[in-house]
Order: sequence, then C-alpha cells, then structure tokens
Amino acid sequence: MLLCPVRDCHLALTRDDRRVVCRRGHSFDIARSGYINLLQPQDRRSKNPGDSVDAVAARRRLHDRGVTEPLLRGIAETISARPDDVVLDAGCGDGFYLGSLAREIGLDAHGIDISIPAVETAAKRYPDCEWIVANADHFLPYADRSFSIVLSITGRMNADEFRRVLRDDGQLLVALAAPEDLIELRGKGRDRVDRTVETFAKDFLLADRRHVVTSADLDVEAVQDVLLSIYRPMRSQPVEAMRVTFSLDLLLFRPR
Ligand SMILES: [Zn+2]
Repeated sequence: MLLCPVRDCHLALTRDDRRVVCRRGHSFDIARSGYINLLQPQDRRSKNPGDSVDAVAARRRLHDRGVTEPLLRGIAETISARPDDVVLDAGCGDGFYLGSLAREIGLDAHGIDISIPAVETAAKRYPDCEWIVANADHFLPYADRSFSIVLSITGRMNADEFRRVLRDDGQLLVALAAPEDLIELRGKGRDRVDRTVETFAKDFLLADRRHVVTSADLDVEAVQDVLLSIYRPMRSQPVEAMRVTFSLDLLLFRPR
C-alpha cells in the first residue's frame, strides 16, 4: 500500500527489518520507535519542516489535560467510523486524534506528517498505528483508493491527492480552526468554510457540517502551552490564567 515518494518512481515499497525499499532500489529507514521516514534530501532542506519539538510537546500536554476531548468527540460523531475502516490522517501531528480514534474503535490507522518530532511522539504513544514522516504537499505515498476515511485536521489540504487515495464510497473529514478558536489569545479568526467547500467542489460534495466549541479554564502553564503550540510564545503582557475557547468547523465530504 505504501508507494515510493521519489518523483517519477512511485513504485510499491516493501518492508524488511529496518527499512522499506522499492524495486528501483530507493530505500528509506524505519526508525527505532517504529515510524517510516520517507523524507528526501530536498524535504530536509525545506523551509517548512513542520512542527518543532517545543510546539509538539506543548500540544501534547494540552491534549493530556483533556481540553481537546470535546473536539475529538465531535470528530468521532461526524465520521462514525467502524472497526473495518482504513483511515488516513493527513497532517496527523502528534497523532492525538487518529491514535485516540484507533484505540476506541480498532481502526486500521495510518498517519502522515512532515514533522519528525510530531511523528516520533505519535509512534511512541500509539504503536498500533502506522506512522509516516513525509512531505505530503504534492504526493501522498499510498496506492489509489487505499482508504475508506481521510482526515485533514487543521492541516494542509490537497484535494486531488485526498480524492486519489480515497475509495469511491469513502468519506473525507476536513476540520478547520473556527473563527472563535483561541479568540482570547489571537482575536477573531476568519471563517474559512465557504472557501474550503469551493476548494473541494470539483471532486467532493459536502455531506454534513458541524461546529464544535468548548472552553477550558487554563492555568498559566497551559496558556503558555497554547501560545507555544501556535508559535506565539512572546507576548507584550505577562501571561495570566484565563478561560480559553477551542473550536472547529467540521466538514464531511463524499466523492462525487
Ligand atoms: Zn522508488
């Protein structure tokens, strides 16, 4: 199911002990923690290597405090996955959403992200899922029609590739940060729903739309973690404990 990420190759990858290889001899390491590293030299030089160690750790601590649990519930209810679903989380980050769903439901779960610290965290925490480090901006290294569900949770969106790897009877869940997400810390954001529906309109129909919102009383450390997770650790005023809003717009698409 995994494909070689080298441009103009894209042959199937087969696994041995420590690495995966294609028939042309392109070879990629399997890390000690179990994830597969499909990054290529040009990806390593990328200006967007994904989430940093500090941002990943801060986000993980927020998940562990339970503040994002209502968002997870909203996602779970929207996709209503079954144990036989094969799920890709494109831009999986630290794996909280996919790993939690896989534990609850028993999915065949696959996560991909360009950040090594994020995927390393995911692989250690949820060893039953398959975790890949790769640059998924142009190519998802999976065979056509591999998945019954594709998740894109506040990540980059690639409509053509999402459609290619999704089965014809599959579903795509796109989660966007809603306008009031973290409003206390960064002001009101843009409503990106209409633009996103348009982005996917060629290949997908909007089947369901939900809005989840929750808030949590955060102490100073937790507020600092939120700021770290959005790369705004420096603020002019000292950080104070406060109530913070977390909110997602959930869009469920089906292939046309
Ligand atoms: Zn190859």
